[in-house]
Amino acid sequence: MPYSVKEIYYTLQGEGFHSGRAAVFCRFAGCNLWNGKEEDKKDAACWFCDTDFVGTDGANGGKFDTASSLAQKIASCWPAGLENIQPMIVFTGGEPLLQLDDSLIKECKQLGFYTAVETNGTITAPKTLDWITVSPKPGSELVQTEGSELKLVYPHDVPPESVTELAFEHFYLSPMTSDDPSATSANMLASARYCLRNPQWQLTMQAHKLWGIP
Ligand code: SF4
Repeated sequence: MPYSVKEIYYTLQGEGFHSGRAAVFCRFAGCNLWNGKEEDKKDAACWFCDTDFVGTDGANGGKFDTASSLAQKIASCWPAGLENIQPMIVFTGGEPLLQLDDSLIKECKQLGFYTAVETNGTITAPKTLDWITVSPKPGSELVQTEGSELKLVYPHDVPPESVTELAFEHFYLSPMTSDDPSATSANMLASARYCLRNPQWQLTMQAHKLWGIP
């Protein structure tokens, strides 16, 4: 089955433990929690989703017949001249685990990449990944109950109390942003207060939006 990729681009990771780290992002097309159609969004688990994961028409997007060809495309997006730094690949979506497999991870590792995934946790992640970020969504069954970091959009995603005991190394709250600045401010304050009361949780932001990069 060919891999369907919306876009591949070089940027800085904006959230969580690796915030600020340069990485190539590979956004797979498709998600199992929303079909990407605006008319169906209000009934989806992720009515707040602001990601365009439909189709293969983004930068460096397309259909890739083999893991090797996709890994080569990913490697071509890491800037030349940075061979002294280990490159990082973040597989995202949509839901990347609909397509990401051991073959692609292996190809990327052979090219020297540190491999990470950002998943909604409804599909088991390959154990060969270096970093697993899970963001559980309300109304969906969580099957990936261990990993590197658990990140919740607050206060939209599942309640933090319901996942605190899971086997993750790091726990992050990311305030839900909105077109309404006062709603965004209220979510940031609520998130900060939650972390102050529950220091197991750390505050993170979608900092790339503040930085003005994709
Ligand atoms: S799981 Fe992520 S990409 Fe899929 S609909 Fe929800 S927020 Fe959007």
